[in-house]
Amino acid sequence: MAQAPAFDKPKVELHVHLDGAINPETILYFAKQRGIALPADTAQELQKIIGMDKPQSLPEFLTKFEYYMPVIAGSREAIKRIAYEFVETKAKEGVVYVEVRYSPHLLANSKVEPIPWKQPEGDITPDEVVNLVNQGLQRGEKAFRTKARSILCCMRHQPNWSPEVVELCKKYWQQTVVGIDLAGDETIKGSSSLPGHLEAYKEAVKSGIHRTVHAGEVGSAEIVREAVDILKTERVGHGYHTLEDKALYNRLRKENIHFEVCPWSSYLTGAWKPETEHPAIRFKDDRVNYSLNSDDPLVFRSTLDTDYQMAKRDMGFTEEEFKRLNINAARSSFLPENEKEDLLNQLYRAYRLPPPPATADQDP
Ligand SMILES: [Zn+2]
Repeated sequence: MAQAPAFDKPKVELHVHLDGAINPETILYFAKQRGIALPADTAQELQKIIGMDKPQSLPEFLTKFEYYMPVIAGSREAIKRIAYEFVETKAKEGVVYVEVRYSPHLLANSKVEPIPWKQPEGDITPDEVVNLVNQGLQRGEKAFRTKARSILCCMRHQPNWSPEVVELCKKYWQQTVVGIDLAGDETIKGSSSLPGHLEAYKEAVKSGIHRTVHAGEVGSAEIVREAVDILKTERVGHGYHTLEDKALYNRLRKENIHFEVCPWSSYLTGAWKPETEHPAIRFKDDRVNYSLNSDDPLVFRSTLDTDYQMAKRDMGFTEEEFKRLNINAARSSFLPENEKEDLLNQLYRAYRLPPPPATADQDP
């Protein structure tokens, strides 16, 4: 059933996880090649096991990754291939610019403590993972003409990895890497202030590395405040629970903080309760700076269009709002200013809007 896309124009996506956006066929292929047992033989069966179609708890969501991450982690060929195919998928979805995020440590099997996914020790370090993903994204960008940049994730429960994450951001700056993120379980008490994360974000500020943080998805407005005040984040991953603190919400609006909204994800993870109004509706009505994103389309059995369809069908989003939010996404992207302007011009042309006003006064 081919459904017409909810917004059939160039799009910008800022919040999507590389390891949550893998083709099921690719997982099957590498499982077979590497002799790793999976609980399924076909892509359809696999999707049933690792995919969700109704809300499940966070621990249930996280077990999904345990099935397939050992198939990809620790394989040079697999890591390059998922990055390449990711760009292909985004091109098909009409995304002209994407920032894809991942934890280099979760795909490594050497010089990482502890070695993730119960892998035997190998020789692929977090540093090499970044190099491999870069190669895949760059090849993909050439082949499919969707511009792809990357964000390296720190993990809340592994503050010991974070200092290396920021060093990798510096080493591979603009060789697709454009920013740093903090992902994982935000409800771990005090995790925004763990010394490893603090050190990494301080260094990011000092080195001009752009910053985003997962906060206020299932956690409270206080975690969003920590992300902004302690970690100096420029964007907030999800941020729905900001609405529970009116003063903070008004302040972030004034400061033009960008919210990376993931509608379908918020339903399946229970971050949003369907009996309440979706935060995206409030963001839309208040003309907040936010984007629409797919987060983990493999696990959510979705495409970016799933999120746009939900916004259009259930939240009253119009074509005008889709244009506005994509322009905001481009403005809040982590691209250098000149490339950001090119992207904005591309969108203005495609949306048949007059060219943007000169942005010279916004430059540092
Ligand atoms: Zn996320």
